[in-house]
Amino acid sequence: MKKILVANRGEIAVRIMETAQKMGIKTVAVYSTADRMAPHVKMADEAVCIGEAPSNQSYLLGDKIIEVAKSLNVDGIHPGYGFLSENVSFALACEKNGITFIGPNSHAIEIMGSKLAAKETVKAYNIPMVPGLDQAITDIEKAKAISKEIGFPILIKASAGGGGKGMRVVEKEEDFETQMHRAISEATNAFGDGSVFIEKYIGSPRHIEIQILADKHGNIVHLFERECSIQRRHQKVVEEAPSTVLTPEIRKQMGEAAVKVAASCDYVGAGTVEFLLDENKNFYFLEMNTRLQVEHPVTELITGLDLVEMQINIARGEKLPFTQDDLKIQGHAVELRIYAEDPLNDFLPSVGNLKVYKLPKGPGIRVDNGIEEGMDVPIYYDPMLAKLITFGKTREEAIETMLTAIHDYKVKGIETTLPFGKFVMEHDAFRDGHFDTNFVKKYYNGELIKEEYKDEAQVAAYIALKQYLEDQKSLRLPN
Ligand code: ADP
Ligand code: ADP
Ligand code: MG
Repeated sequence: MKKILVANRGEIAVRIMETAQKMGIKTVAVYSTADRMAPHVKMADEAVCIGEAPSNQSYLLGDKIIEVAKSLNVDGIHPGYGFLSENVSFALACEKNGITFIGPNSHAIEIMGSKLAAKETVKAYNIPMVPGLDQAITDIEKAKAISKEIGFPILIKASAGGGGKGMRVVEKEEDFETQMHRAISEATNAFGDGSVFIEKYIGSPRHIEIQILADKHGNIVHLFERECSIQRRHQKVVEEAPSTVLTPEIRKQMGEAAVKVAASCDYVGAGTVEFLLDENKNFYFLEMNTRLQVEHPVTELITGLDLVEMQINIARGEKLPFTQDDLKIQGHAVELRIYAEDPLNDFLPSVGNLKVYKLPKGPGIRVDNGIEEGMDVPIYYDPMLAKLITFGKTREEAIETMLTAIHDYKVKGIETTLPFGKFVMEHDAFRDGHFDTNFVKKYYNGELIKEEYKDEAQVAAYIALKQYLEDQKSLRLPN
């Protein structure tokens, strides 16, 4: 593989190109008109504009991207996450055109892209599952009867859902009908597929996922877990590895279950098997993501592996260079997703020009970044701008480094989740490891940190005013 096209943008495009360059592989960027000046475009050896800003006129145009790849003699396409990464026809079209899709085969993407098909497939492997219905349901009366049997609260879930969308909690029987109608119409609008099913709503779960790697020769290993329980709107914001709650026994059981899930669909490449862990440490299969995951850096830091390099080597047909027994966890890593959102105002989107943008530096600090000072943050794409990842010998050390790095990360012009990250890192429940997916709902409220940031804003305004007055004085001196 001598030349790779990265069919993505932002931090993940940059991150993939970094590894390709390290491996001596040439890179091709594709971009929309909104991203002309973006770092991923500047970084690539070649870059081609493929369309207008909206992703359905650029980053989602599979045929156009393959055309570019062919005209530039590209050997492989890396899809990153989101966009075309879990698109069956795109993976197939790559295969057909003799370009290596750096990811699993289209069969695995198809099965795991549907939460229902995934459950059906892994059932034969004795993987524990959340109690519920393993089929799509449209008959409301029947669905209600089943929900009563399972016991409220229940969760209505879109089979084609992703990114935390297409989920509705139903607390009691009376609300069932309305929520069911909403769930179906939401799923139809968002995913073009109205299939929904029902799961028991686990009250205080932790989201624990297992990274797996599989080569084309039938070898599968797992790279331990990531804990992703700090979420807002069912979407991750803070992740870490290892988890504070797994005993070596449960880690082994979950790892083995994840390997079986991968085997069930003849998986090849890097993938993630997601589980919920309840208060009694029972774990349940949620879904499998057939791509590189946003939070993969925490796994890289505790294993010393480069997952993109592994993906490329696997795509080239190489065997995994280690067995499960060779793999060990070393140290602790924490990640904070930097979203262009205002954590003081209900995580509302925040757009604008990046007047100041300075990254933190130092031992144990990694920033996966896709933007730079002076840029306008486009409104068309996912609001995640960068990821701040820290590493330490212990969890305590990783958290302390994270606090220093948050302090040194300077952003002006837009709001970000940095202040939220500070709140989490300082919170006793997080520090003690006693938290679940309800952390944000239970403890967080923008008002709690407003005072602190209001004071800071006042101090900043005061300093600016003082400076202004002094400047005025010196300007007047010659008179
Ligand atoms: P991860 O665990 O890697 O964060 P997410 O489910 O949050 O996985 O999705 C990763 C990226 O893919 C995000 O940018 C998210 O917005 C996008 N994404 C995932 N699934 C979907 C989907 N079905 N529709 C739209 N965007 C999605
Ligand atoms: P997505 O495809 O959007 O990532 P997931 O099935 O992975 O959907 O679930 C995302 C999040 O939603 C989980 O991390 C968890 O916080 C919550 N969730 C999903 N299923 C359940 C459930 N049965 N009970 C409680 N919470 C759930
Ligand atoms: Mg998920």
